[in-house]
Amino acid sequence: METLEFQSEARQLLQLMIHSIYSNKDTFLRELVSNASDALDKLRLETFRDKDLTADTSDLHIAIDVDREQRTLTVRDNGIGMTRDEVIGLIGTIAKSGTAEFLRKLRESQDAAGSQDLIGQFGIGFYSTFMVADRVTLVTRHPRSAEGVRWESTGESTYTIEDVADAPQGTSVTLHLKPADAEDNLPDYTSTAKITEIVKRYADFITWPIRLLPERGEDGEPKTVNSRKALWARPSSEVTEDEYAEFYRHVSHDWNKPLETIRMQAEGTFEYQALLFIPSQAPIDLFMRDAKRGVQLYVKRVFIMDDCEELMPEYLRFVKGVVDAQDLSLNVSREILQQDRQIQLMRRRLVKKVLSTVKTMMTERPEDYATFWREFGRAVKEGLLNDVENRDAILAVCSFHSTHDAEGQTTLAQYVERMKQDQQHIYYMTGESRVAVENSPHLEALRAKGYEVLVLTDPVDEMWVDAVPEFDGKQFQSVAKGQVDLETEEEKAQAQEREKDFADLLAWMTTALEEKVKQVRLSSRLTTSPACVVGDAHDLTPTLEKMYRAMGQ
Ligand code: ADP
Ligand code: MG
Repeated sequence: METLEFQSEARQLLQLMIHSIYSNKDTFLRELVSNASDALDKLRLETFRDKDLTADTSDLHIAIDVDREQRTLTVRDNGIGMTRDEVIGLIGTIAKSGTAEFLRKLRESQDAAGSQDLIGQFGIGFYSTFMVADRVTLVTRHPRSAEGVRWESTGESTYTIEDVADAPQGTSVTLHLKPADAEDNLPDYTSTAKITEIVKRYADFITWPIRLLPERGEDGEPKTVNSRKALWARPSSEVTEDEYAEFYRHVSHDWNKPLETIRMQAEGTFEYQALLFIPSQAPIDLFMRDAKRGVQLYVKRVFIMDDCEELMPEYLRFVKGVVDAQDLSLNVSREILQQDRQIQLMRRRLVKKVLSTVKTMMTERPEDYATFWREFGRAVKEGLLNDVENRDAILAVCSFHSTHDAEGQTTLAQYVERMKQDQQHIYYMTGESRVAVENSPHLEALRAKGYEVLVLTDPVDEMWVDAVPEFDGKQFQSVAKGQVDLETEEEKAQAQEREKDFADLLAWMTTALEEKVKQVRLSSRLTTSPACVVGDAHDLTPTLEKMYRAMGQ
């Protein structure tokens, strides 16, 4: 037997769990059941992929066993299990980004009450067992290992690990529950009634059977306590908001409520159901290279894969949920999905549905829409570059800062509504910050005319403005590039006169500044500044130039 130390972050988290006064301790069971369910999914997939893997998949299930006398509760699955290295790596350390985030927030929130609420908001996984147990034993075996592993800890700084010869396939986690009088209101987790209640509340939709064994010393058969009805297959009128929220937690590992729940049903030649969620908060990895795509693929109620890229375009990578297709084969591969025309059609409909849902939210729940845009707007705008087919639908759900309002944002439709009678274009200016844009001399002439200018400060704005020609028949026009066409015919004639008067001066200046600029022109865009530098219509903007330079190009 070996004694090992927990990694320091893990130790911190454990201390928190042991001393937790968090009132909703029932959540530990949700975590264990959710891990068991994942382990069964993984085993089923592994046996599909690897025909040589010898594992018994004839009766995959989760079993819960309570013992009143010993004060133990055991959650067992016959799923994928863990190798010795995995136990050390997965249970002894904290690798999850969510947990790191949890700890960071915890350090920020000084008061104890605030930190307790955080436990409810985050999934804290396996360690949550230490809220209710003073010792936890885990026995597990991976189908590729002959030997099993026994792990045990009291949640203090160390754990023990040893090989065991006769471990069954899968994992069992036994909680040695804290004494009943350890604190007031500690629920009786040795009661089958209590366990049934918790499973129904948190895990009813789990598709694997969750069997509760009769209490020790009592007769009877194991009882399956979850209904196993897929939420997306039940009529929406029958599903409560809490059930949706619970399911959302299960698929997203996000402990906030979703901002929006979307259901879709397609019948006919290619039948499928979708249950999608828009989170209320962007994940921290939204803009990292390997950010997850979110949507899971099921075939006829059976989990097939996570992060199914073929179902959601990258710019909607934050959408979570499940798509259940009836007419695919269970061993469908990514390659097949990529080529399947039905999948492509399905994806198009999912995208349209997500965008139209946001559009509706915009008018019906403006505050939620504002949250959506704050959290995901930058990602959505990537779609303006990549998804030409839905460009108009994307533009319709976009909001931008503009000179019209110092605080709020405007939609393009609102901008167009406010356009002056003689105004031809939608004017915009990109820059690093609102202040930088607003202080720019480029804005002067437009201000004088009373024209509104969109203030675009996200790096992605630099890109889409070049790709998207127009909205509602009005062309986008940068105020910092080329000739901004602001004059009436009369003004143009006057300008030409002036141009002649100044021809010599301009020619001289152009030569004098040869190294620095391409051309010196008279400008109608300035009212108070004497001069400004403009880019050619096809030049890189200063921000893009900086971006490219930073990337070493
Ligand atoms: P999460 O489930 O969010 O990854 P947990 O703390 O609940 O975090 O679990 C950590 C890891 O331990 C899991 O990702 C999984 O790899 C492994 N694990 C936990 N329980 C089981 C189990 N019953 N069977 C197999 N692996 C498990
Ligand atoms: Mg888990």
